[in-house]
Amino acid sequence: MVGAIDIGGTKIAVGMIDENGRVLSRVECPTDVERYPQALADIEKMLHKAAQEAGVTLTGIGIGSTGPVDPRTGEVGAKNFLSGWEGSNPVRDLTKLFNVPVAMENDADAAALAEAGWGAGKNKSRLVYVTFGTGIGCGVILDGQLYRGADYSHPEIGHCLIDASGPACPCGFHGCWESLAAGPAMTAWVESQAPPDYPHRANISAKRICELAREGDALALKAVARETYYLGLGLANLVTLFVPDVIVLSGSVMKSADLFLDGIREIIRRSCGFVPHQKTDLVLASLGDNTNLIGAARVWYHRYASGRPHV
Ligand SMILES: [Zn+2]
Repeated sequence: MVGAIDIGGTKIAVGMIDENGRVLSRVECPTDVERYPQALADIEKMLHKAAQEAGVTLTGIGIGSTGPVDPRTGEVGAKNFLSGWEGSNPVRDLTKLFNVPVAMENDADAAALAEAGWGAGKNKSRLVYVTFGTGIGCGVILDGQLYRGADYSHPEIGHCLIDASGPACPCGFHGCWESLAAGPAMTAWVESQAPPDYPHRANISAKRICELAREGDALALKAVARETYYLGLGLANLVTLFVPDVIVLSGSVMKSADLFLDGIREIIRRSCGFVPHQKTDLVLASLGDNTNLIGAARVWYHRYASGRPHV
């Protein structure tokens, strides 16, 4: 039985996941982003609790974590949301504490593995997973294996260039996909365009903009059209680059996918003329709010279940 740990910037979820991807138990706590030793103690406690609730014994631990992580060494990298965790090594520490094999991946890669193994991408050999929320995260699976760049790096497709005249992004580009199509970009655009007397200015969010669009609010409809355009450009690039069997869409922005999907498909149809774009299915993630947790378990199965560990 695999213990799964989903480490996010605001909370850590822990659960027991069986070999079919079913969640047998789940607990969570806020992420102590400043103090890694405290967070490790929280994780240790939650693993014991989740195992006890499910009535199982741990045979392995899989981790999906926000930010840059080194899947080979298990070390948490620099420039992440977990300021007090830099240089820490949850893989090494949990191996010592539980004496079982532990594997860790970036959380988007973990979710991609889950959708490829147990979700919407089952039985598809080429899959791109994209999650749209406060940022844009991606994972690429080819023939069941996670695609990696040099030095086991995780490709940052959310930071591909979409509009060179767009806003600056900490990655170094101006106008990368994330800076134009993630949830905060939608909010920022509405805030910049709304007249002073716009009644919905307070507490505006991507979710609220989508609700307002459904009610016919003119500015929200424009924001949805703009969002559709940028979602479509980035996804059309993915189709042209990979021509995958399936692109799995996830994240909070995709909770309103019905507002965007027709427009996205139209952009792909118009823009991907040199590839058989109709072979690429565009589908929504199927594992729901537990995708990242299930993905963390899939990280372990991906690494160890074949009997021949590989990174
Ligand atoms: Zn960027």
